[in-house]
Amino acid sequence: ASDAPLAMTPNDPGWGDLQGIAPGPRMNATFVTLARNSDIWEIAESIRQVEDRFNRRYGYDWVFLNDQPFDDNFKKITTSLVSGTTHYGLIPEEHWSFPEWIDQEKAKKVREDMKERKIIYGDSISYRHMCRFESGFFFRQELMLNYEFYWRVEPSIKLFCDIHYDPFRVIAESGKKYSFVLSLYEYIDTIPTLWASTKKFMANHPEHISDDNSMAFLSDDGGETYNKCHFWSNFEVGSLEWLRSKPYIDYFEALDRDGGFFYERWGDAPIHSIAAGLLLKKDEIHFFDDIAYYHVPFTHCPTGEQKRLDLRCHCDPKENFDWKGYSCTSRFFELNGMTKPEGYEEQT
Ligand code: GDP
Ligand code: MN
Repeated sequence: ASDAPLAMTPNDPGWGDLQGIAPGPRMNATFVTLARNSDIWEIAESIRQVEDRFNRRYGYDWVFLNDQPFDDNFKKITTSLVSGTTHYGLIPEEHWSFPEWIDQEKAKKVREDMKERKIIYGDSISYRHMCRFESGFFFRQELMLNYEFYWRVEPSIKLFCDIHYDPFRVIAESGKKYSFVLSLYEYIDTIPTLWASTKKFMANHPEHISDDNSMAFLSDDGGETYNKCHFWSNFEVGSLEWLRSKPYIDYFEALDRDGGFFYERWGDAPIHSIAAGLLLKKDEIHFFDDIAYYHVPFTHCPTGEQKRLDLRCHCDPKENFDWKGYSCTSRFFELNGMTKPEGYEEQT
């Protein structure tokens, strides 16, 4: 019989070797999750996927943020699942409340009206605080100031393929500032005046608008109207330094003043996307084809069988949203002169 123990425990020598640590440098980067204590099992599922497919070999940190204190159960379970160091932050009230200039009566009428019209999350106050927080504050929480790059993870997401390189390094070393895996059209009833506010910002701050921007991703008429295309922000890998820069902060503050987080139901996805599209250069936005991803109800599954086999993917290619009519990813490819992968026609 072998001398090797039949089963190892965490205290046995060699336990850490099971991690198969990836060689190479690490970036100054962290995962970041906004969650409630009640999201524990849904976020546990997401962490397990991220760790199995990627982070167990890299050991990046994970920052958890909440408008309420995290309880011991949440901390215990998430700490056991994350290979890197976990940090838990309580969001200050100024970042999760109504600014003083908001007319409460008007905001309340909007919620009642949206409830009647059955607009998703239309009657929710907390969802609005969440969208405002993700638009303007997550990247300047005290714990986040220690990092240059972030990867946002939400509850109940899936990763379908091995990630065999470090996405943070891709971002850092190729000078990217923002990335996505899924794109689609926004529900117009949630943002009727977002583009008007954006146009006002562009007129007030022409110095912030990039010469080589992606306006063609956002508008079909040179900026007159918004075509509603946006990157789906429940997945993001990007630069915190960019979000903390004057152009982005000026944009967020202009929008916040206009009150659309509360008088409408502006989402952080169109806001991050419009900011990336206007403030960044085209080649600072990256499409991560290799990161196969699901957040209800959409899937990004790489096109091309060999790639899926090489990356040990378990997604059904028929589910891939990229080339379907409601995706904006074709537009992104065309705008950037990228060649669509072989076989994409079969997935339209
Ligand atoms: P959806 O993806 O747009 O349907 O919205 P989610 O319910 O997934 O919320 C987006 C993110 O914000 C998730 O990471 C949630 O866990 C988080 N979230 C939503 N509402 C709250 C809240 O009231 N408090 C906290 N702490 N997190 C929230
Ligand atoms: Mn979600």
